[in-house]
Amino acid sequence: MFLKLIILIIVAGAIYRFFGGKIPLIDREEKSEVEKDFGNNIEGTSKCAYCGVYMTEEDALIYHRKAYCSNECVENYKKRK
Ligand SMILES: [Zn+2]
Repeated sequence: MFLKLIILIIVAGAIYRFFGGKIPLIDREEKSEVEKDFGNNIEGTSKCAYCGVYMTEEDALIYHRKAYCSNECVENYKKRK
């Protein structure tokens, strides 16, 4: 009887998730994992070390551990030195 109840809860939960429902405990675990990945990035958004423009980490060019918005800014920074 107790085992049947557990199976019923698991099945109900699976159906609930299948239809797009969110189970707080499980979804929180998934979210914390995403946040962990996000934390592995240097920053969420980066500021160009040359012109000061803000861009996403995806768009940033990393040169000498600093972020730049474009190759142009990297070249300009090199010239300035
Ligand atoms: Zn720039």
